[in-house]
Amino acid sequence: MRNLLAAVAAVVSIAGLVVIGGTSTAGAAPVCAVDYKLNQWATGFTANVTVTNQSAPVTSWKLTWTFAGNQSVSSGWSADVKQSGAVVTASNMPWNGSLGTGASAQFGFQATYSGTNAVPTDFAFNGVSCSGDGPTTTSTWPTDTFTTTTTTTTSTTTTTSTVPVGCGTAAVCDDFEQQTGATPTGRWTVGAANCTGQGSVAIDSSVAHSGRKSVRVNGASGYCNHIFFGTPLTGTGTVHGRFYVRHTTALPQQHVTFMAMKDSADGGKDLRMGGQSSALQWNRESDDATLPEQSPTGVSKSKPLPTGQWNCVQFTVDPAGRLSTSLNGSVVEGLVADGVSTPDIDSQWLRKTNWRPAVTDLRLGWESYGDGANTLWYDDVAIGSSPIAC
Ligand code: CA
Repeated sequence: MRNLLAAVAAVVSIAGLVVIGGTSTAGAAPVCAVDYKLNQWATGFTANVTVTNQSAPVTSWKLTWTFAGNQSVSSGWSADVKQSGAVVTASNMPWNGSLGTGASAQFGFQATYSGTNAVPTDFAFNGVSCSGDGPTTTSTWPTDTFTTTTTTTTSTTTTTSTVPVGCGTAAVCDDFEQQTGATPTGRWTVGAANCTGQGSVAIDSSVAHSGRKSVRVNGASGYCNHIFFGTPLTGTGTVHGRFYVRHTTALPQQHVTFMAMKDSADGGKDLRMGGQSSALQWNRESDDATLPEQSPTGVSKSKPLPTGQWNCVQFTVDPAGRLSTSLNGSVVEGLVADGVSTPDIDSQWLRKTNWRPAVTDLRLGWESYGDGANTLWYDDVAIGSSPIAC
């Protein structure tokens, strides 16, 4: 495990992004687009795949491709990823099979490889090629005010381009540039459900991920210093979130929370994202279950939250009780509850059967239960019903 940790720590930032749009016959409308993001190290990699249906609505899908090398899939998330020889088939989960025209599904997998790890070029969606017109760098993400520089990788070339990313039709999308006061107002309310003491929240014009403003949280240690800024969420169904967080002090050994969502289907208790054992984790207030489990193996499947930089956190909470989480574009294996019990990861989480979350708000801030003070900044916060890119 020590070797694995060393390997992960030495991750080469490949950050491949390829968007393939195409037709099965020249001149026809594109049928699919695939966004294939790699994070790889010497002997393995994870891939974040977003497939967009650009043809008629479907109720189930299979995405297939062929590896050019000796890549071997070891596990998948949010899709059933099976490999036969060099051919891989990713089939939808029960909860993400229906894709209307223009809708996307996101899944990931981990694999081993040696030698070259070329991006596949023959993606097919329900048997129809996505690449009839060959690779293109056209982004399928809607344009908005956020931009980021992304390395675009195909099997033969690497170029750098500016790819607009952002909120699309997300119900919440806030870069805080409109805030004019000392503390967040409008949709945001500052406070905490229980005692508040030394913690504070402020609009900060000196640090930002986008534009010139962000929200600064001065989080103090000790139970009675909880502080959050929060907004109600409406609607039902799968919740996709994305936010950027920058913090100062590494996550402590003891349990802390930096994001909470009230779960109206779980007695109004919080679903919480934070840290423990110096790594990221989810915690369910109603039974104090953690994801991953706090075993050494479980903790090793999570990741620390890097300090002194903006980190992109993406998460999905689906009403069937599944969770997935990505940090800076990569799925974190230990932060995925896929409904199938995995020792050290989600076996404790799944002991609460029939957990069917219905979250009604989003709060960002700091909640320490013993040790752990931190100064954090949040920016570009978005919540929607489909995945939101970093
Ligand atoms: Ca901003």
